[in-house]
Amino acid sequence: MAKKDKMVYYFGKTKTEGKGGSKAILGGKGLNLAEMTSIGLPVPPGFTISTEVCDGYYKAGKKLPKGLMDEVQEAVAILEKELGKTFGDNENPLLVSVRSGAAVSMPGMMNTILNLGLNDEATEGLAKATKNERFAYDAYRRLINMYGDVVMGLHHEQFEAAFDKVKKKYKVTEDTEVPAEGLRELCDAYKDVYKKGTGEDFPQDPIKQLQLAIEAVFGSWNADRAISYRRIEAAKGNTEINNLIGTAVNVQAMVYGNMGDDSGTGVGFTRDPNTGQNKFYGEFLINAQGEDVVAGIRTPQPVAQMSKWDKAAHKELMEIKKKLEDHYTDMQDIEFTIERGKLFMLQTRTGKRNGIAAVKIACDMVKEGLITEKEAVLRVPASDLTHCLLPSFKPTARNAADVLCRGLNASPGAAVGKLAFTATEARERFEAGEDVILVRRETSPEDVEGMSAAVGILTSTGGATSHAAVVARGWGKCCVAGAGEIEINEKSKTITVAGRKFTAKDTISLDGTTGEVMAGEVETQEPKLSGDFAKLMKWADQYRRLAIRTNADSPADSKRARDFGAEGIGLCRTEHMFFEADRIIHMRAMILAEDEDSRRAALKKLLPFQRKDFEGIFKAMKGCPVTVRLLDPPLHEFLPHDTSSQKQMAEELEVKPAEIKKRASALHESNPMLGHRGCRLSVTYPEILEMQVQAIVEAAINCAKKKIDAQPEIMIPLVGTAAELQILREKVEATIEATKTAKKFDGKLNILIGTMIEIPRACLTANEVAEYADFFSFGTNDLTQMTFGYSRDDVGGFLPDYIENKIVPVDPFQSLDTTGVGQLVDMGVTKGRSVKNKLKVGICGEHGGDPASIAFCDQVGLDYVSCSPFRVPIARLAAAQAALKSA
Ligand code: PEP
Ligand code: MG
Repeated sequence: MAKKDKMVYYFGKTKTEGKGGSKAILGGKGLNLAEMTSIGLPVPPGFTISTEVCDGYYKAGKKLPKGLMDEVQEAVAILEKELGKTFGDNENPLLVSVRSGAAVSMPGMMNTILNLGLNDEATEGLAKATKNERFAYDAYRRLINMYGDVVMGLHHEQFEAAFDKVKKKYKVTEDTEVPAEGLRELCDAYKDVYKKGTGEDFPQDPIKQLQLAIEAVFGSWNADRAISYRRIEAAKGNTEINNLIGTAVNVQAMVYGNMGDDSGTGVGFTRDPNTGQNKFYGEFLINAQGEDVVAGIRTPQPVAQMSKWDKAAHKELMEIKKKLEDHYTDMQDIEFTIERGKLFMLQTRTGKRNGIAAVKIACDMVKEGLITEKEAVLRVPASDLTHCLLPSFKPTARNAADVLCRGLNASPGAAVGKLAFTATEARERFEAGEDVILVRRETSPEDVEGMSAAVGILTSTGGATSHAAVVARGWGKCCVAGAGEIEINEKSKTITVAGRKFTAKDTISLDGTTGEVMAGEVETQEPKLSGDFAKLMKWADQYRRLAIRTNADSPADSKRARDFGAEGIGLCRTEHMFFEADRIIHMRAMILAEDEDSRRAALKKLLPFQRKDFEGIFKAMKGCPVTVRLLDPPLHEFLPHDTSSQKQMAEELEVKPAEIKKRASALHESNPMLGHRGCRLSVTYPEILEMQVQAIVEAAINCAKKKIDAQPEIMIPLVGTAAELQILREKVEATIEATKTAKKFDGKLNILIGTMIEIPRACLTANEVAEYADFFSFGTNDLTQMTFGYSRDDVGGFLPDYIENKIVPVDPFQSLDTTGVGQLVDMGVTKGRSVKNKLKVGICGEHGGDPASIAFCDQVGLDYVSCSPFRVPIARLAAAQAALKSA
């Protein structure tokens, strides 16, 4: 057991202190280095400085804790002894890498420094020890550059300019062609750049280098890009990322992939992260360091080609793949280096994958006996299922498409949008409502905001494991990387490809599954939901307790939702049915009517439309309950507000425009969301309720006659007092009876009558309300609005600031505020069931499709959740995960 205040954890032959430790303390990378060491994989030794030290560093006002450097020096001493090398030695120097590593991986968002420990003398020592002067000075120039950039904040361009000068002098174009003496000169030039930029000499003391590098890694925890990345991930539901206390720092003996043509470096996934296929998916570069692969500067070769270069190393890598998957029972994302033919593992972590791959890998691993069905259900992040529901291009449109070029299929899907050339531009145009494709030469972590805003990402350099690809895949965003034929001109905001020019106004289509880039808009199509997807859904359905319904108000949506597995409709918003061209006129006539008779006359014309709609929906949902909500929005929403539309309406209804204006201003309310809407409409205008109920009942009777099992449930919205429901229930019951009599129908209809719970008072008095309700359905959109007092429609004005300032952790309209609004839900359920213990309770606010909110609904004993059709599979899986986790 580690000491409580232990700061440094060693891993190597001497001891492996982090083995079986905590990821929260060692970070993902640190823990996995310890684990890999302990299962006998070839890992260069080193040590991990805990995340607690990072936390302490910030708490102390950016100061390293006392005693840390002593512990670091002790660990360095063990490392020196183990490797027979000494820090700063002029014979055989020890060199280390310094890398970040939080408990949740944040690819490329934080700092890394390689070759640390080199100084003027040690570089000579390295040249001697390796008998390779060129290599030693190459390592030194990389250190000065990286150290200057990462630790001292110098611009990379200054170093690039110095490098270009040397290349020019030696008349070469590639870095690798510069001879040893050129690199020696380059190191001097870099030291000058360093001195000019920082006012100091490049530090010669390796321990000082190490200390500043550790601080720089801690500092990068709060760099803008890292903060943005965490915010975006948290907003996507990765709330774990909000609970991190900082990053760990991993200091590890260097191994070199750039020692010549028998050395190399690579990254890869033990299975294909795009498709899930059980095939090693990776890339390597001969004679290069790790950062060269991920930075996307040189285009690497696929690992499948590696055996042609070094058969033994390739074979060992494939054996390691198996060992890693057996140990972790999951797909791994690894980094490796080959130094003069010897393979070293530098990192492993659970590989990010898109939803399609996640489903296939989970199903395959069950087949392979690595995991159980339950584990498979728990393993796929529910919201990633959207990737399986991604559209693809229609084959006919695809075949006829104007293909411009092909890049790497870095992240699947189909994206259609206009070109945006910078991250800021992408965000701004996205906010203005445009679909944009972010086009960059290579994306850097600074681009995350733009990547998140874009519908797709296109880069002209970089491999399938570059930042762009890794981040896009994690987000299920279509990405084509390394499309080298595209020439990007950021200044003129154009791209040139296949001899043609495209500007920010042009639309292109990206096929992330094949890597093709196409001119114009290519038509897309909906996905198929069979195979592994269906299998996983079936497993999930065995474990979930919650029923899953959908929010739908048309037969087409109902059908789609049923195909996705919906077991009924939780919310049919009837107002949507009044907006179609042939109906709105009658609705408006009803609103303009001055007395009950004229109102009834207009409603009579609406009745057949409603009846037909309901019949279609009941048919699509046959055998399943359909909750129909009576009219909810304030009436003014149905009237035109601008003069020209009012004029047009006046012509259609053959009234004076002034009359419409007068009615519109009479209906004007200062606070319409708290105004004359919901059940309040039915109290004032009971004839609206009567028409709607009549339409529902007649539709149900028509279905019964056709032997279609219709199961309508009538839902009264916005109830805040039991008396509202009591009065309206009586009216609904009377109308049901009247309609049956009028239709001479004496069969059983079994129509439930219930209410939405969306006003805090309804929760507080749920025991009274329940007396008149056969069911409750929580309308958590309004409930959130009224509990927080945030207007649903205006929250965009301040919510981003609230999230930024951590006043609220996430948008409470997307993910239920379980501490506040959740208490009201819990109270509503408990009080409601205190008088009717079998009271059916569901949720139909937006939260019904959010995995975290679904877990809460499961916990407080709801019977079902209801969400939009596309979120039904997510809800099925999230409900199963909630049930399994609480079991
Ligand atoms: C709600 O308020 O949660 C709800 C589902 O109703 P609407 O969004 O239509 O107000
Ligand atoms: Mg509502």
